[in-house]
Amino acid sequence: MIMKTRFIPDGKDVLKTLPFYHHQDAKYLYYPITNARCNEGETCVVDGQYVKVGELIGTRRASFFEQPIHSTVSGKIIAHEKKHNEFGQLVNYVIVQNDFKYEMHESVYERSDEEIAALTREEFVEIVKEMGLVGLGGSAFPTYVKLQTDKKIDVVVANGVECEPHLVSDYEVMKSQPDWVIQGLRYTIKTTGAKRGVIAIKKKYQEVKEILNEALKAYDDVDIEVVEVGNHYPSGWELDTVKNAIGKEIPQFTLTANYGVLVFNVSTLASIFNAIKFRRPLLERYFSLSGDGINNMNFRARIGTNIKELVEVAGGYIDPEIPKVLVLGGPMMGSNTISDDVVMTSTSTSMIVFNDQEYFEEPCIHCAACVYSCPVKIQPVQIMNALKSGDVDGLEMLEVNKCIECGLCSYVCPSKIHLTQHMRDSKQFLREQGN
Ligand code: SF4
Ligand code: SF4
Repeated sequence: MIMKTRFIPDGKDVLKTLPFYHHQDAKYLYYPITNARCNEGETCVVDGQYVKVGELIGTRRASFFEQPIHSTVSGKIIAHEKKHNEFGQLVNYVIVQNDFKYEMHESVYERSDEEIAALTREEFVEIVKEMGLVGLGGSAFPTYVKLQTDKKIDVVVANGVECEPHLVSDYEVMKSQPDWVIQGLRYTIKTTGAKRGVIAIKKKYQEVKEILNEALKAYDDVDIEVVEVGNHYPSGWELDTVKNAIGKEIPQFTLTANYGVLVFNVSTLASIFNAIKFRRPLLERYFSLSGDGINNMNFRARIGTNIKELVEVAGGYIDPEIPKVLVLGGPMMGSNTISDDVVMTSTSTSMIVFNDQEYFEEPCIHCAACVYSCPVKIQPVQIMNALKSGDVDGLEMLEVNKCIECGLCSYVCPSKIHLTQHMRDSKQFLREQGN
């Protein structure tokens, strides 16, 4: 039996209806000095120093870019110390004790529309850089680097597809702050000189389409259209979104800018709006706790909040005697974490708590479901076999590097083989062989 599918249960029906609790009670906020993209960094504050909301407290550095770090509360720097990050690595953190006054730093104040209209492209990019904005769809790629392109841009695509199950963060941004998304898109269209903008959403999000179209009536100086893409998975994968939203096929491993297209996640565009209009870095995100091992709850919480606190607010775990599997992000592409004692970063949108169910891999039955379901048209089962036999040439010929780690092959496999992990291991194996 071939179980080909691109349609998976999205687990959002209930989550979408739950209110978002504004959590402002975090006593300590934790800011990592390094992260997955930046392996160096330093702070510019000392213990005992008073800081305000939006104040620069440090900078992360990578080989070709840097990312300023801002405090998301007012209060006192109480420590610089090591703590485990979401990947279990010990990294340096700066810790702020919240004074619960939420006093804004003097650098955070509104720009007039005239000032915004007069910004040069270089000034626009510099503001986005100073605010430390990154791709909020999970990539964490520095937004200013994307904006720096010297290619001619025709269209800016706002990606609001959020195809991963259990995630409702972008959905909520579009529903509750449509103007932030539209204004961020509008600013980006103007600064890049694009002719038009497109907001891509799932076909089944008709309620969001209505909200966005209603909000768009206030902006008749730009050409922005809300377009529907399929409900399949992974319709939010950048190249799939572009293909379905504007009909342009862009090959893998090329920049969309080379084809006149820039793509930004809708939450990233909302953060661009806040950076340009209010000189405000990203302070908060929508975050969900979901799964069968916890009371499901939605939050609006400060970057730097310990997720453990949100679990407590939600009432802790259900059936604590049953072991839990914790996943940060979505169930398809998210990463497992061994502890909830981890910190919300700018790309945190969800923690899923599953009651652990033992399952055992069975031998492959050669059904080809993984092959037929793969969105990049590679052959997961053959790749797994090539990896097992250490066949470097075979792995290259099978183009494992095209794998976007979407998780679909593991999901469809009737033998419950964790194919996606084999894809990751294969890519790692090729890297180790210098390929
Ligand atoms: S994880 Fe990789 S191999 Fe598996 S379906 Fe997705 S893209 Fe294809
Ligand atoms: S790995 Fe799984 S999905 Fe792929 S052919 Fe074998 S049994 Fe089918």
